[in-house]
Amino acid sequence: MVQPKSQDREEFFKLYEISRVINSSLDLKTVLQFIMNITNDIFKAEAGSIMLINSEGKLIIEVAQGLSEEVIRNTEVVLGEGIAGWVAQKGEPLLLDGKVEDSRFTALVDRKDVIKSSLCVPLKTKEKIIGVLMLRNPTSSPKFTTDHLRFLSAIADQAAIAVENARLYRGEKERVEEMVRLNETLSYEKMKVEAILSSMADALVVTNLSGDILTTNPAAERIFGIDRSLLLGRSYQLLFSGIGLEDLWKKGLHGKTSFTEISLKKPKELFFRVIVSPMRNVDGAVQGVIFLLQDITELKRVTQMKSEIVSMVTHDLKTPLTSIQGFVEVILSRDLPPETLHNYLVIVNEETVRLVRLINNLLDLAKLEAGEFKLNQRPVDLIKIIRSIIPTLTLRSSNHEIVFVPPAFVPKVFADEDLIIQVLNNLLSNAIKYSPEGGKITINLRWSENLVEVDISDQGIGIPHEKLPRLFDRFYRVDSKASKGIAGTGLGLANVKYIVEAHGGHLRVRSGEGKGSTFTFSLPVAAG
Ligand code: ADP
Repeated sequence: MVQPKSQDREEFFKLYEISRVINSSLDLKTVLQFIMNITNDIFKAEAGSIMLINSEGKLIIEVAQGLSEEVIRNTEVVLGEGIAGWVAQKGEPLLLDGKVEDSRFTALVDRKDVIKSSLCVPLKTKEKIIGVLMLRNPTSSPKFTTDHLRFLSAIADQAAIAVENARLYRGEKERVEEMVRLNETLSYEKMKVEAILSSMADALVVTNLSGDILTTNPAAERIFGIDRSLLLGRSYQLLFSGIGLEDLWKKGLHGKTSFTEISLKKPKELFFRVIVSPMRNVDGAVQGVIFLLQDITELKRVTQMKSEIVSMVTHDLKTPLTSIQGFVEVILSRDLPPETLHNYLVIVNEETVRLVRLINNLLDLAKLEAGEFKLNQRPVDLIKIIRSIIPTLTLRSSNHEIVFVPPAFVPKVFADEDLIIQVLNNLLSNAIKYSPEGGKITINLRWSENLVEVDISDQGIGIPHEKLPRLFDRFYRVDSKASKGIAGTGLGLANVKYIVEAHGGHLRVRSGEGKGSTFTFSLPVAAG
């Protein structure tokens, strides 16, 4: 084994030490500062600097010693200019021993007259020159020698590797930080999208190009009654089977947006407006299909109700009005005998009463529909209010007998008195109205711990069994021989049902054609 000379050995150990120190950090600034300190310790130069080539291809001082702040800040050397520029361009070390008048000094040396010697070595990695390491001494110090240059070059080789490593590390670190930032932004955006999706009232189902469900929202889970986890990855046809949305889905694949209306029985019938549109990526290419389902059940109901009202108004309001108009015209244009005049006026009066009733029913309905009525609930004595309305009802008919034998005690109900009077009036007038032959009308009261039940039974025309399911629908009237000629609006029972249910009670009916009817409603018992 060849033994190095003692000076070489010393240099070898120093170099080893230098390499150890400068590689102990991956922070570029620290690495550069280490290199500067070490060269300073070894060469005891008056001034020194490490310059790196920036992205514009210029040399910038990264660390220095013995140079003014101003010089550090303002030095910017173009490759090929001055000592540093020359070394960075050629990639060769340079030793200057006092040639102060050399024009290459101008870029870096601010005190040309006192400069004695300078060392400038390139910082080279395998592929490229990344900067220069430069030292200089004033006239008073001994000149640098070629040995110095050789040793500084060896240090520079180590330094270049450390700098490159630190730079790579910095680049890597920045990339990781950028990825973390990107990830955070993505998570935030994802959170926002999820918040929007989950607070949406409309159901959303997104499929890929093969029709597999990619995502849904809670509204979709609610509407279809299927857990999201069971839907993801399954075909959209699982949700829309038998509804015929395949054509729309295919149109979506071809970039077209289409609309349709569907109904789902879940368990009661709900109506939806479905918008099927393509899902595109940033380049506009179709990536899947989006189904958006808007619940239009209420809208449909209101629209239907409006059209029913319009047809009812045109029919039911027009009939009495035409008749009133006709009779009034006759009364005005002819000289009628008093008896005929009286009969005509009776008809006009009846028609007017019918009109008023119709308008009142409509107003009640409008109020109930608009949710404008507020329950003014308090303990109400049902026996008392039933007793109070019986006399007026009896006045309206001579061939009906109203029978009311209440139990000795019935607890008070928690109810809105005016609305309950309205319920009783409706049911009792119907009982009278739909028993044209007269008969008994019986009011019964029953009570349990929580409820009081009221039966109103008549011996009238009754209701055919098959008509019962629709009896409480708005504007529904039984169309039968027996009910022919009995005036009404078909709104009374709908209102009764609405009011009773708003109290937390129930309305039901037992009836058969020609067998009379019993309407029963319940109300909650008042506490205490
Ligand atoms: P209206 O009496 O104004 O037509 P309702 O909503 O009060 O409207 O009643 C709806 C329908 O139910 C009536 O048209 C009638 O055919 C039937 N109905 C209601 N009450 C009775 C009853 N006590 N007996 C027989 N049919 C009834």
